[in-house]
Amino acid sequence: MTALPPGSTIGILGGGQLGRMLALSGAQLGLKCHIYTDVPGGACDVAAAATVGPFEDIDKIRAFAETVDVVTYEFENVPLEAAAAAEAVAPVRPGPKALAVAQDRLEEKTFISALGIAVAPFAAVNSVADLAPAARAVGETGILKTRRLGYDGKGQVRIKSAAELPSAFETLKGAPSVLEGFVPFAYEVSVLVVRSLSGEIRFYDLPLNTHKDGILDTSTVPSPLSVPHAGRACEMAASIAKALDYVGVLGVEMFYLGPDAPEPLMVNEIAPRVHNSGHWTMDACLVSQFENHMRAVAGWPLGPTDRHADVTMTNLIGADVNHWQALAAEPDTALHLYGKPEARPGRKMGHVNRLKPRS
Ligand code: AMP
Repeated sequence: MTALPPGSTIGILGGGQLGRMLALSGAQLGLKCHIYTDVPGGACDVAAAATVGPFEDIDKIRAFAETVDVVTYEFENVPLEAAAAAEAVAPVRPGPKALAVAQDRLEEKTFISALGIAVAPFAAVNSVADLAPAARAVGETGILKTRRLGYDGKGQVRIKSAAELPSAFETLKGAPSVLEGFVPFAYEVSVLVVRSLSGEIRFYDLPLNTHKDGILDTSTVPSPLSVPHAGRACEMAASIAKALDYVGVLGVEMFYLGPDAPEPLMVNEIAPRVHNSGHWTMDACLVSQFENHMRAVAGWPLGPTDRHADVTMTNLIGADVNHWQALAAEPDTALHLYGKPEARPGRKMGHVNRLKPRS
């Protein structure tokens, strides 16, 4: 298991802000990045090389993989065929199994609960005939979510009674879905776990996450979670990472239901990539999630995940970015902008990390 030396090239499937921040971290370690994306700009602006093409163009993916030493990805909806084509030429880390599990909510929940880890009650809905039995299985209040391609609260409808299910299924255009029971959580946290090529595992401190309009708004560290519960959350994330033989950073979103709940922690979903709730690590940790992901996929030793400050990360969504001058002038604040040309509503344009001395 040899480490790729500085000067090696990491291929990144996907060219959004996560790819951009990965490429910047790679550059810091003397690694070059080659981005494969279907949209120019973004990560391409800061990478050594870029290929622009559809993810369905298997010949182009293969040609891209031939120019790199290892392939990673920055979004979970990379088509499995593209990942397989790349893997025939170069190692793909994390492996395509993590992609397959994370792309399909039904597979994901089945996989995680088979590890003995609690998830919200769930039932598959493939047709109108499945609606009534699903409601009986998980309860009258819940969320109907498409199995595939949902993100930032898209592809899901809240249900207050079983009577609402048929119209909810229609809203989702009858796409294969999962009905999840509504979880009365106290708050949401996430585990950012990184696993090296040799199987070493490290964790960042858990952030408390808040959402606005279904999109992550803030991540604050430390979270109010007790030390034993944080430890249990880390164990859960580690067992998922091990079961996937995972290499790199894995984000595990969790619900915290309170100390007296029969299951205080439930996994909501996993992201087989660096995660928005880990952006605070860029300024509050010695080594960020992005650098540790690059280290892991390049076969390097992991860097320290220690946190040296308390921090709140706030996403800049849409027009929020127009305040960039005021944000740039704020004390104890690091501003990160993604260089996107148009501040459309709901679009992640950047983030700020506001630091305070460690409590
Ligand atoms: P997701 O796209 O699955 O991450 O869901 C987006 C957000 O919806 C989550 O971060 C929660 O705030 C909320 N949510 C999702 N699933 C549930 C559930 N089963 N019960 C309660 N809230 C949920």
